[in-house]
Amino acid sequence: MTRHPDTLRTAAAPPRLDPAHDALFLDFDGTLVAIAPTPDAVIVPPALAPLLTALSARLGGALALVSGRALDEIAGFLPGYGGPAIGSHGAEARGLPGLAGGGVGPRDLAALHDRFRAFAAAEGLLFEPKPHGAAIHFRARPEAEARARAFVTEVLAGEPGLALQTAKMAFELRPEGATKDAALRAAVAAAPFAGRRPVYLGDDTTDEPAIAWAGSSGGIGVKVGDGDSAARHRLSGPAEVLGWLCAQAAEPAPGGGPGGGPDGREDG
Ligand SMILES: [Mg+2]
Repeated sequence: MTRHPDTLRTAAAPPRLDPAHDALFLDFDGTLVAIAPTPDAVIVPPALAPLLTALSARLGGALALVSGRALDEIAGFLPGYGGPAIGSHGAEARGLPGLAGGGVGPRDLAALHDRFRAFAAAEGLLFEPKPHGAAIHFRARPEAEARARAFVTEVLAGEPGLALQTAKMAFELRPEGATKDAALRAAVAAAPFAGRRPVYLGDDTTDEPAIAWAGSSGGIGVKVGDGDSAARHRLSGPAEVLGWLCAQAAEPAPGGGPGGGPDGREDG
């Protein structure tokens, strides 16, 4: 198996996908695109949507995006990709029959959004309204992390049905049952995902349950970037992810080539 050049504890690069038997699940921020100072400032490579479309076709449609963002935002960043997608940590889904009706219904979040907006303005932080919750980003002022945590914890105490989601330089309130791993469990119950081995790529704490689920389901969890992870495979960042995806979209080189053959699934 190819080894990643660095010596991180989980340093093995993922093996080559088996197009007939694998299903691919991809986080968006920090996995397909680099984290930006603000969520709306991410730069989406023009080649990404065509690459996802080609890879989806190669996998018989068994490719889905899995993001904490609203589906509308994902669609806005990838207008050329119309395939399956899970948004808002699983509260929304597109093109996934296994998730039909399993989403979380909308609720009136106007008062919650007002509280978040006022706190963010007072602290000089970024408020991100979400259709099923709200987020506070402290990337611009890391020193405000403790106050931001105290704020969302206090708000959460009065909001039954919501849960605290920590992420990179952000705290978010999301629907209690909306988690990426729960969404994936539902998604893989239906075609074209059913019966395929799940391969999940993600970079953040929000992805860890999905990474662990993939590994424990006979599939592969891949951690993107630095940090502790349950994943046994790692790619260094979005640039390396795109390179790996390009290799999976192409016919394999005779005799295997970089990335290995469709074997090497040692994840338990
Ligand atoms: Mg991410």
